[in-house]
Amino acid sequence: MKTTLLGAPIDTLTMEESVEKVAGFIKSGQPHRVLTLNPEFLYRAQFDPELMEFARRAALVTPDGIGIVWACRMAGRRVVERVTGIDLMLSLVHRAANEGWRVYLLGAAPGVSEEAAGRLCQGYPGLQVAGTHQGYFSDEEAAGVAEIVRQTRPQLIFVALGAPKQEQWIDRYLEQTGASVAVGVGGSFDVIAGKVRRAPRWLQRLHLEWLARLLREPSRWRRQLILPRFVWMVIKKYRL
Ligand code: UDP
Repeated sequence: MKTTLLGAPIDTLTMEESVEKVAGFIKSGQPHRVLTLNPEFLYRAQFDPELMEFARRAALVTPDGIGIVWACRMAGRRVVERVTGIDLMLSLVHRAANEGWRVYLLGAAPGVSEEAAGRLCQGYPGLQVAGTHQGYFSDEEAAGVAEIVRQTRPQLIFVALGAPKQEQWIDRYLEQTGASVAVGVGGSFDVIAGKVRRAPRWLQRLHLEWLARLLREPSRWRRQLILPRFVWMVIKKYRL
């Protein structure tokens, strides 16, 4: 099921259904883009047509975080659950280990993607990691990185360059890599590698993960100023 929020398409699927959809993409062998849509991205897309295009071109757009789920409810749309980047990545890795899909980890600081891959292989025996690559490269180097990825013949690429850099890279280079699916996953490698801790489960259940993140990484406060503006935008559009 698909819905539209502030001009962007969103797939209102459970985690299980989202994974199933990705499995179909991989079976097809054709290139598909997956976007985990958070309030910040959707807010910025209102003023940046390139970002909105990324959402429209994606084969799967998941509601990343409670902000999007809340906004859908305000707009009277049915959304079953949030499907965040890291949760989707872990669910896909689990399935990949069972199915034998070759996965690639592109992004984060030097050493982090290797560390994350090592931990994933321990946690999900049988996982086939085609390769890893750090995420700090110039625009001139970006095509070369796609070529390095292609040579390892991955089927599923996790791209952790932060938004919207990861969406830009996926948009330009997915076909060149030969992979069937690329998913932008933000800071997930840092969490998996143990560099950044996720909020405790009870805070996640209270939907306060964003607050924990703000307290831990105060430098993010500027970015999070977008959240109240997003809330106001949603109320204005759908409730006033
Ligand atoms: N990153 C990267 N290359 C860059 C900029 C960032 O690989 O040029 C990585 C960074 O190390 C981090 C992730 O991208 O692992 C961004 O994490 P963040 O939590 O900021 O993601 P967002 O919230 O923007 O999706």
